Amino acid sequence: VSGILERVQKVVDVLAADAVDVDRTGVVPGSHWQLLADEGLYGLAAPAEAGGPGLQFPEIVDVLERMSGACLATAFTWVQHHGAVLSLAMSQNIALRDELLADAVAGRTRCGVAFAGVVPDVPRMRATRVDGGWQLTGHAPFVSGWGVIDALQVSARDVESDDVVAGIIEAHAQPGITAVEPLELVAADASRTVSLTVDGLVVPDERVVSRVPRPAFQANQVFGSRINGTLPIGLARRCAQLLDEGGQADAAARVLAECDAVRARLDAGLGDMALLLQARADGAELAVRAASALVVAGGGPSLLRGAQAQLLARNAVFTLVAASRPELKQLLLQRFAA
Ligand SMILES: Cc1cc2nc3c(=O)[nH]c(=O)nc-3n(C[C@H](O)[C@H](O)[C@H](O)COP(=O)(O)OP(=O)(O)OC[C@H]3O[C@@H](n4cnc5c(N)ncnc54)[C@H](O)[C@@H]3O)c2cc1C
Repeated sequence: VSGILERVQKVVDVLAADAVDVDRTGVVPGSHWQLLADEGLYGLAAPAEAGGPGLQFPEIVDVLERMSGACLATAFTWVQHHGAVLSLAMSQNIALRDELLADAVAGRTRCGVAFAGVVPDVPRMRATRVDGGWQLTGHAPFVSGWGVIDALQVSARDVESDDVVAGIIEAHAQPGITAVEPLELVAADASRTVSLTVDGLVVPDERVVSRVPRPAFQANQVFGSRINGTLPIGLARRCAQLLDEGGQADAAARVLAECDAVRARLDAGLGDMALLLQARADGAELAVRAASALVVAGGGPSLLRGAQAQLLARNAVFTLVAASRPELKQLLLQRFAA
């Protein structure tokens, strides 16, 4: 375990040193993705029996926070991969698991996810049973990693049973994918996020990784939402580090203390979605405040394109909306409009 945490630090140092360049060019160098694979980070969340490092939950949270603070575009794209790894590890489709899991854990196969069919109350992706598989029709408004990932886990709701069906497709143009529109983003643009429209995309049964009743899927939502809560805390920690290096030790200490407090509330929220969403709002607000403090501390030079402060401020804004939920949106609206 200690080995992997040291390797994480090595990766974090490389990503942080290049974050402003990655932001400016909108491209994560291929060498960075390869570094994540070489250092075992694509298997971070895999169970030990599937080749994972066997980290405890607080250690995984710490790694995700540090990665987000170092380079949000890289971290956000890479985080999605773990959703597919966990689906494969738990899949009852043994042939698919045997075909893909080891490569996914090693980072030889890189994955993304499209949850548009399941998270919104009115699903944006629907599955219809056909001979030997499912036919998917709908729209995933945000899918990260296009052109970087090899495989995409697409979730859809069965029009008959409302079950959540998830299949793994190859992440490139193919019959049934009717539009792939690149989205130009002002933060994490290098996440290569696209909007994806499918019409009659066939997912054969051999590529179905899971089928679960919707209530069972929703019960698992709290865990994913907790994981997404690592993004703003990671940004705030990075702001604290840069405040400290810039001679603002008191401000840095206050931000770090708040990170600890919000993290504890996020953990407590694992048992209660309402508490968790409150803590997610606390985290997003903290990231915005911490980045604002960093901008102010740096003065005018914070606005230079090469400054970390302006990058972190835009990244903090990203965490106000990405991976949101209607309740979280309301909480943040009330706070910022008050
Ligand atoms: C830059 C960026 C990259 C993203 N990358 C991915 C990705 O790779 N894979 C992925 O599955 N999602 C991705 N998301 C989707 C993100 O999780 C949802 O966009 C967000 O949760 C809320 O959707 P909204 O911004 O449309 O918000 P709103 O307009 O405020 O919300 C509309 C509805 O969308 C629902 N929603 C929640 N999650 C999703 C979702 N995943 N897709 C569609 N609607 C959703 C909300 O619950 C809400 O009911 C990305 C979002 C952004 C901004």
